[in-house]
Amino acid sequence: MKTVKDYIRSIVDFPHEGIVFRDVTTLFADARGFRMAVDQLLHPWAGMDIDKVAGLEARGFILGGAVAHQLGTGFVPIRKKGKLPGAVISESYVLEYGEAVLEVHDDALLRGERVLIVDDLLATGGTAEAGIRLCRRLGAEVIGCGFVIELPALGGRERIEALGLPVQALCA
Ligand code: 5GP
Repeated sequence: MKTVKDYIRSIVDFPHEGIVFRDVTTLFADARGFRMAVDQLLHPWAGMDIDKVAGLEARGFILGGAVAHQLGTGFVPIRKKGKLPGAVISESYVLEYGEAVLEVHDDALLRGERVLIVDDLLATGGTAEAGIRLCRRLGAEVIGCGFVIELPALGGRERIEALGLPVQALCA
């Protein structure tokens, strides 16, 4: 029986020479693979009190939307700078070269709402941490983070756990 990991392929030298990119489009394209990933992603949180799933651009939208549908919650997109039409709050975070900015609508979460953050891959944890900070600034309570893949050598899990949050990853 195939596992989630079996549906993910690695592309060498993308987006730069020396990088091995974990490509989840092959997982998303397969009906069984996609369903398995979504079912496993929501499993630890099923039955918990959750108001919203927040997805990190862009692959977090695909997974987070499906998880929100299954959990029966709303979905909130956390987007890269300049993409959201309404009033936003922003958080910058450090990339390998330079800085990036994530944004969320300032009315996307209500104070006290319980939020699950979803993305495809956890590497250094910088992206997820920026997402957590945005949710917390709106007064929401982040209950945890779910990823399809983690790259354990890059320390993302420790970084998110240091913020007091559980981390779930389906494979490494
Ligand atoms: P981090 O901020 O944890 O260092 O990087 C995670 C973010 O970069 C995620 O939003 C993820 O989508 C993206 N990312 C980095 N490397 C890869 C990769 O090899 N494959 C995929 N699918 N996404 C990646």
